[in-house]
Amino acid sequence: MEAVGLLVHSAGQLCVVPAHDGEPQRGASLGELAIVEDGALAVRDGRIVDVGPSAELRGRYSPMQEVDAGGRCVIPGFVDPHTHIPWYGDRANEFEQRLAGATYMEIMAAGGGIMSTVRQTRQAEPAELVADNLPRLARMLRNGTTSAEAKTGYGLDTAAELKQLDAIRSLDAQQPVELIATFMPAHAVPSEYDGKANEYVDRVVEEMLPAGADWMRQRDVTLFCDVFCEDGAFDLAQSRRILERAAALGYRLKIHADEFAALGGTALAVELGAVSADHLVQTPEADIAALGRGRTVAVALPGTPFGLTRWDAPQAYTPARRILAAGGALALATDCNPGTSWCESMQMVIALACRMLGLTQAQALAAATVNAAFAIGRGHEVGSLEVGKQADLLVLDTDDYRQVGYQFGGNLVKTVVKKGRVVIQ
Ligand SMILES: [Zn+2]
Repeated sequence: MEAVGLLVHSAGQLCVVPAHDGEPQRGASLGELAIVEDGALAVRDGRIVDVGPSAELRGRYSPMQEVDAGGRCVIPGFVDPHTHIPWYGDRANEFEQRLAGATYMEIMAAGGGIMSTVRQTRQAEPAELVADNLPRLARMLRNGTTSAEAKTGYGLDTAAELKQLDAIRSLDAQQPVELIATFMPAHAVPSEYDGKANEYVDRVVEEMLPAGADWMRQRDVTLFCDVFCEDGAFDLAQSRRILERAAALGYRLKIHADEFAALGGTALAVELGAVSADHLVQTPEADIAALGRGRTVAVALPGTPFGLTRWDAPQAYTPARRILAAGGALALATDCNPGTSWCESMQMVIALACRMLGLTQAQALAAATVNAAFAIGRGHEVGSLEVGKQADLLVLDTDDYRQVGYQFGGNLVKTVVKKGRVVIQ
């Protein structure tokens, strides 16, 4: 008998959700789960060393710790590849204004929206910012998220943006959800630069991006750089200038594109080799075709149009089926933020994706795990239950994975394992 740290066994369905030849599950291949019935999984030093039938693995390994799934479903931990954690405060008042008829862009033009959270986040002490976000990450973990992207973008000056980066690093160290950091000083044009967007872009490329690059070199990590390419935020030329400078400084690239207006951000992302392009609601056909040819992962955020919906203002959603028909790689994320989508649950996002994007439960599950991992450059480490990957997994309180997406508003997660350690039981 071989010694291992952990043996998870007796899973009625063990959903491996494999990468496709080391790449995301693209186009028609999305939804491959590779289910092992009565499955088991052995873990050594936090990594998966074997996957197979329970009878075989129980005869082969002598574990320090066992998790008996009792016929329940085992799936990879969810990866949330787009959040705006950390932020400080809330905007419940703006939600009330929207319910009374104001639009998101009208509230933003009146100094609310992102700037409201910027003011609250700038004023927060570093320790307050960390303390305010820890319970949020604890709720995400209980709902099955084991890795998440986390962005700056509520500082919008050099010191406050670096304060957010420090908060992300501190949050990552203090709890089990693994955080992948993104630097986003071009999230909005701050009010002190009203009517002077190009001057703010000068400051981003000349001062803020180099400061973030110093931060990452000192800590030997690679950051993503993201930009909000949108009417009222940064136009296509400004977005290109920021992303090209970021690439030259060693950042990997992301973009917020086509949420309200099609400015060409998706095609720019593919051209620059961005790891992901996110939102993609108004994306034109030519840009969808570009996603099919390129390597950029399309990240759909169905919580955001749902969060913006009023009874009299239905919203458009990402044309996920057209992206898949073009051969694109599709992932799902919460966009967790205090303005448009305060959603901490990837299970809720899967439920929305099944109804509003037209995905099957299997497609949505793969988009929320293996493809989501590729959307943050972690597809080789997490997102699937393949040998060699980190042992990040969930035991669900059901014997049928199709309950995820079918049920909504609750929580089907019973046990969470992160890097081979049981962190929620
Ligand atoms: Zn966002």
